Amino acid sequence: MSAPAASNEVSMETLVALCKRRGFIFQSSEIYGGFNGFFDYGPLGVELKKNIRDCWWNDMVRRRDDVVGLETSIIMHPKVWQASGHVDGFTDPLVDCKVSKQRYRADQLFFAAVVVDGKTVGYVSALESENTAADLQTAAEGLKRKKAIQGTLAPIIAKDMTEAQPDEIPLIPSPATGEPGSLTAPRSFNMMFQTNVGAMTDASSVAYLRPETAQGMFVDFKNVVDTGRVKLPFGIAQIGKSFRNEITPRNFIFRSREFEQMEMEYFIHEDADWAKCHEEWITWCKNWLLSIGLPESHLSLYAHPKEKLAFYSRGTVDIMFRYPFGVQELWGIAARGSYDLTQHANASGKPQEIFDETTKKKFVPHVIEPAVGTDRIFLAVLCAAYAEEQVTDEKGNTETRTVLRLSPRIAPVKVAVLPLLKNKEQLTARAQALYKKLQRRYAVFYDEAGAIGRRYRRQDEIGTPWCVTIDFDTIEKPGDTFTLRERDSMQQRRITEAELFALLDEQVY
Ligand code: ATP
Repeated sequence: MSAPAASNEVSMETLVALCKRRGFIFQSSEIYGGFNGFFDYGPLGVELKKNIRDCWWNDMVRRRDDVVGLETSIIMHPKVWQASGHVDGFTDPLVDCKVSKQRYRADQLFFAAVVVDGKTVGYVSALESENTAADLQTAAEGLKRKKAIQGTLAPIIAKDMTEAQPDEIPLIPSPATGEPGSLTAPRSFNMMFQTNVGAMTDASSVAYLRPETAQGMFVDFKNVVDTGRVKLPFGIAQIGKSFRNEITPRNFIFRSREFEQMEMEYFIHEDADWAKCHEEWITWCKNWLLSIGLPESHLSLYAHPKEKLAFYSRGTVDIMFRYPFGVQELWGIAARGSYDLTQHANASGKPQEIFDETTKKKFVPHVIEPAVGTDRIFLAVLCAAYAEEQVTDEKGNTETRTVLRLSPRIAPVKVAVLPLLKNKEQLTARAQALYKKLQRRYAVFYDEAGAIGRRYRRQDEIGTPWCVTIDFDTIEKPGDTFTLRERDSMQQRRITEAELFALLDEQVY
């Protein structure tokens, strides 16, 4: 085989198709037409997701002496969400189109005045994308042409609907109809899913599906402290489902209505150098993403401008990822002061303090919060791992190889065990023995169907880092060696069982 050509940037269409074809992700309730904002993880998807989750848990909790784990309930006392501010403030600005009945998030719906020779001659609109400004410019040129207006078109100034003046709103066209007059002014829309607990369905039984896992750590803060395992600074981590009634779920699993979060609250002394601690966690999170195979080239940092921060927040930095639909938030790392614990102390009447042995004073700890979505990491690793390469076989034929260059840490299948021929009992028996032994510790796949080259390709497409072929040299020559074929280089070498286990031990952790 010749060296592979450079990989392409993947489109979302290609990725969604691969996810369905190979059983990574399905649309929820597909046989009923799907359910917008909900997804199912198929046989390979659950493995990949579990590996991401396990890597995070191992690195964040088990391999650190200062972080402990927690699992709190999804439905908590409704007072939790009043105290946290979610009942009143967990809202997104919503704009309705009265004609099409479409709903838009106001901060994702952009518009611009079309100005010709200094005069506003109309408005154009476009949904947020990586090309919003260019889309608005093209629409502005189109409007000028359509109205046959002569003169010089000023460069457009894109604004989102939260910035629209009341007199502009009736003039902005709806993206659904292309006509002005149907968009409403933005209003607040609470994203929490409501339910009722118990037999009565009235105001007193209203409860919420949690929109974040973080409040569980604050509400159980005292329980964790009082059980005695922790001393400041320390963290409490949780992985679990969260639910948000997103106005416009989109970009596949990037923004869904049910998703999984991996959050950690790191409690520090009120006098500690919070900025230094914040910096350290940003570095930790970025390094962790690199450790599961995300390339540095796709990552960047975004510091929220001071004027846009919540009043209690001291600073928030997002680790951004370059998705096919643009650079978007992957992981938010926020310095939240003592806001959350203080809110719960006030609302519950139970002090949320720690005793300082040095000063002999009680205080409410401050917190640094790295919060990330497992599904967003899942999508990021697939985007970065996908490659199509032109490869030439020994007969000189060129073909396209689809390969997922997933890190061995998270690849859904670690090794494929392949007997060279399926009707040669000695080969299959040795392959089965190895397969069974590997299975005790790793996700492995046994495949005896089809030509060996085809079997390699099937594994490439799902990101299996190694294939082990049991061939005639295995059974006829001394040493009991197999052919180890590496996914990325496609190179082959001979390896013993002990060496194979050593390789896996080193790379899969
Ligand atoms: P966004 O601005 O994209 O809506 P956010 O700032 O509201 O996100 P946080 O409340 O900080 O997000 O949640 C922490 C993390 O949870 C995010 O960084 C993201 O990885 C993940 N997350 C949030 N909302 C969703 C969603 N609807 N679908 C999937 N993951 C999500």
